[in-house]
Amino acid sequence: MEMGSGIASILDKKALDRDDIIALLQCGEDEAPLLYRRAAAVRDHYVGSHVYLRGLIEYSNICRKNCLYCGVRRDNLRIERYTMTREEVLEAAMTAFNLKLGSIAIQSGENSSGAFIDTIEELISTIRRMTDNKLGITLSLGEQSRETYRRWYDAGAHRYLLRIETSNQSLYRKLHPDDEMHRYQRRLECLKAIQDTGYQTGTGVMIGLPYQTMGDLADDIIFMRDFDIDMCGMGPYIEHSDTPLGERGTDHRLLKERFSLSLRMIAILRIVMRDINIVASTAMQTIDPAGREKAVSCGANVVMPNLTPARYREGYRIYEGKPGYNEVNESNVSGLNPDLIPGITIGLGIWGDTPHYGRRLGRKK
Ligand code: SAH
Repeated sequence: MEMGSGIASILDKKALDRDDIIALLQCGEDEAPLLYRRAAAVRDHYVGSHVYLRGLIEYSNICRKNCLYCGVRRDNLRIERYTMTREEVLEAAMTAFNLKLGSIAIQSGENSSGAFIDTIEELISTIRRMTDNKLGITLSLGEQSRETYRRWYDAGAHRYLLRIETSNQSLYRKLHPDDEMHRYQRRLECLKAIQDTGYQTGTGVMIGLPYQTMGDLADDIIFMRDFDIDMCGMGPYIEHSDTPLGERGTDHRLLKERFSLSLRMIAILRIVMRDINIVASTAMQTIDPAGREKAVSCGANVVMPNLTPARYREGYRIYEGKPGYNEVNESNVSGLNPDLIPGITIGLGIWGDTPHYGRRLGRKK
């Protein structure tokens, strides 16, 4: 067999099975560009050669959860806790609107107090009103009750991102405290509730977790396909020194491996699911300054410029080295280097929904 013919024949298949996905995840560096080019072509064909923007508002780092990998976990006493004021959130939303980002994404530590739920509901409806229903609203506010998901949906949010983190239940157990607040089953039920409520539903995983195998990552892709998600945000796991999983630190070589695995995951997911929205994550940019552009070249089509006020950035360090530097400025709202992504246009002033969502609803009828 000729060198390289391995992945070419896999890429020509109509549907990829688990072994095919594992083979693609493990293909040599010489073959990977073929995978990336195919994924970019699939993106161009099914959703267009555009990148959509979501202005990211990191609302609060107060979190009731204690995930062993995350820098804003409840037991990390080394960060100062904050919650943005109503005015700050509205100002960030108006910045997104005026700069034509098209959508915002409100993310936060997990909180399900009545006050939190009410405040978010009020913010959503106010933002909708202030922008004449023209600004898309994505939420990433963790596990909530069905009723809460419904209330926020009725207020005007229409996309929700809740990462499954890993689709391997026993690995999930190892990454979280063993208590009722951190159950895989509950996370899955929440994701289902989000989808049932009518949101464009997003999930994702961390790549390069301790104990994670290539088989696990292949299963993650299959999980996302079978769940029929509309959007995906996934990226490399990066140790945070103030967490139980990260206290021994990492080295750059390992991070580089996770980065290249993340590019492969994005490319494979694009080929498998074709018309969903896939984020070029900030974690990729943390490892490689051109990380988001590389992700776009591998089939990603969403980036999330950060609109969180500068003074809170330090407080929302989920992982080590999370950049505060992708400031939004008027001359280049995406923060992407256009020279690195020739042929890609930035979708300004539009929501940038996926055609997948409409197709999914059509299939359900
Ligand atoms: N509480 C919200 C969102 C906050 S964190 C929620 O649960 O949806 C957003 C994502 O950051 C998490 O879902 C996780 O996938 C990712 N994350 C957390 N710690 C990380 C780390 N150390 N390295 C890489 N990604 C991490």
